[in-house]
Amino acid sequence: MDNTVLLNIAKTHGDPIYVYDANKIKFQYNRLTSAFKGVKKLKLNYAVKALSNISILKLMKTFGAGLDTVSIEEVKLGLAAGFDPKEIVFTPNGVSLEEIESAAKMGVMINIDNLSILEQFGSKHPNTPVCIRINPHVMAGGNANISVGHIDSKFGISIHQIPHILRIVENTNMTINGVHMHTGSDILDIDVFLYASEILFNTAKQFKNLDFIDFGSGFKVPYKAGDIETNIEEFGDKLTTRFKTFCKEYGKDLTLAFEPGKFLVSEAGYFLTKVNAIKQTTSTVFAQVNSGFNHLIRPMLYGSHHDIINISNTNGRERFYSVVGYICETDTFANNRRINEINEGDILAFKNAGAYCFSMASNYNSRYRPAEILWYNNKAHVIRARETFEDIIKLQKNIDF
Ligand SMILES: *Cc1c(COP(=O)(O)O)cnc(C)c1O
Repeated sequence: MDNTVLLNIAKTHGDPIYVYDANKIKFQYNRLTSAFKGVKKLKLNYAVKALSNISILKLMKTFGAGLDTVSIEEVKLGLAAGFDPKEIVFTPNGVSLEEIESAAKMGVMINIDNLSILEQFGSKHPNTPVCIRINPHVMAGGNANISVGHIDSKFGISIHQIPHILRIVENTNMTINGVHMHTGSDILDIDVFLYASEILFNTAKQFKNLDFIDFGSGFKVPYKAGDIETNIEEFGDKLTTRFKTFCKEYGKDLTLAFEPGKFLVSEAGYFLTKVNAIKQTTSTVFAQVNSGFNHLIRPMLYGSHHDIINISNTNGRERFYSVVGYICETDTFANNRRINEINEGDILAFKNAGAYCFSMASNYNSRYRPAEILWYNNKAHVIRARETFEDIIKLQKNIDF
């Protein structure tokens, strides 16, 4: 997005503020669908937790996306956005049987990743088809926090437990209509992903009533210059060929499903903050912005890099800064970053702020969560108002002592 557009949005709607570019989301959606144009039935279920604003969900609906949800609340959001329950997949981890049953009652597709729950659900509801999430034990990417397919992961049913799954299916007479994996948040190496896919195909062969195979997500997007990103086009070609062969062997045209979150919305997002103060210490120049990990926690939570641009002074001389927040806790966004000279009052734009940014925001330090803007058809649409003091206090009970 154009810096002057971003600056104008901050001027008109205040800061800190999140801005999302609808065109970029659409571009990414189209990129993924065209990479898989050779597949007869392709379904992209947008991972709601990446950015869960109802207007974003409605935008996804206009593209023809379904939804991937991880809580009953996300299911409700999807229904409120007008999705048909059949277009929603519920892929929770560690939730109660009751929550899964409530989702099933709403008519959404159920994905189960636990043998105990599978057995209980199958015994009580043998006529509700379910998908199973397997753990192929493949380590995608190097960060154990975001690789969920490895041996110690809490996600999925181990492929070594397939015989047990088959026994549960036989004993309960339930139907498995899909198999699923989600190996982690970084596919750096297409061959590793294809290797995991072979394990999924092998699993799929053992279930006779499948409608779909869900390959999860993990598409990597660039966060800074020189970053490796998933080569979607090459990946699409290779997996399409393999998938078609599988369908021929299986004797049915199955749906190929993905659940992209980050890939669709990360690069579409900008987080705009204002510089409250410049603080020069003996070793560092700090730029202190009117935000912190209450609004954007990824750098502190898992060391993520977000490019930061001084959109108030794009031609200024470059200097080194540590960009930090205003909360009473270490909240370093960036260390030793080369940024165009920063003055107090300047607006800094954080890039890649679409995925896992607002959706992880909190009210820590009793600060308001930012407003959200969708830039759509060359207009700024407010899709979430900035919170007010009323929002901070409304559920608190003011008892008398
Ligand atoms: C979070 C999640 C996704 C989305 O992952 P991204 O890396 O954002 O694409 C997909 N599927 C499941 C089950 C998830 O939990």
